[in-house]
Amino acid sequence: MTAHALFWSVGGSLLFLILVFRPLEWAFPAKKQGMLRPAIVTDFCFFLGQYLVWNGVVLFCLAHLSRWLDANVPSAFRAAVASQPLWLQAIEVVFLSDFCVYWGHRLQHRWEFLWRFHAIHHTSEHLDFLAAHREHPLDTIYTMSLINLPAFAFGFPVSTLAGLIAFRGIWAIYIHSNVRLPIRPLRWLIGAPELHHWHHDRDRRAGNYANISPVMDLLFGTYRCPDHEPEAFGIEGQPRRGYVGLLLQPFGFGGRGKGSSGPGSGRRG
Ligand SMILES: [Zn+2]
Ligand SMILES: [Zn+2]
Repeated sequence: MTAHALFWSVGGSLLFLILVFRPLEWAFPAKKQGMLRPAIVTDFCFFLGQYLVWNGVVLFCLAHLSRWLDANVPSAFRAAVASQPLWLQAIEVVFLSDFCVYWGHRLQHRWEFLWRFHAIHHTSEHLDFLAAHREHPLDTIYTMSLINLPAFAFGFPVSTLAGLIAFRGIWAIYIHSNVRLPIRPLRWLIGAPELHHWHHDRDRRAGNYANISPVMDLLFGTYRCPDHEPEAFGIEGQPRRGYVGLLLQPFGFGGRGKGSSGPGSGRRG
């Protein structure tokens, strides 16, 4: 892609997100929050980093995973999958994908090594559509591999998954947006920002690990939805760091930060 095309692609994506999510955040805010809230520059850097660098790296890794599974999954298994009706294959893929990402996400919150990377996503103290992009690239590779694992194992080519991948991406942004819509019964089926906002509570085992539908949380007893927003998002005692500092933090670098964001630091969401 030329620099010119890249500029228009990134700019167009940002404009699309602003046009879709800003009016929603303005009309149905979950929390009182100004447009220029703290750490917005850091989250904007994560957005740019994803679009300009990391998305390409993630796609490269996914293509490798897909090829590896093509070479190693028994053809009898794929033939059995292909003999089913297409609608059944689609349901199986979505269900298994949710299952993989649910347990993979739960493991990230339990296993210290994985948490080190996933914690970067949880350092956000202010949630909105831009904060959704705050994710360590290795965390993205881990999550995207799990999400796509069943489809790759079934032998679905990446091109047929583009729509599903795009929908999951938009949905991931929506559940971080500073929005609370009055869709009470629907959130049992399709999820809602308030569920994921509770996942960002300062309690690391707050629950709601599912990616789209909360079905897995309901099945495995981690569904949580109080009728109000969490008091504060983020991680207790996390130093405030910029983009590069957060990228280096899992490796034990990242500088001293700008003081603790723990209780009493005065920067509650
Ligand atoms: Zn998490
Ligand atoms: Zn999140």
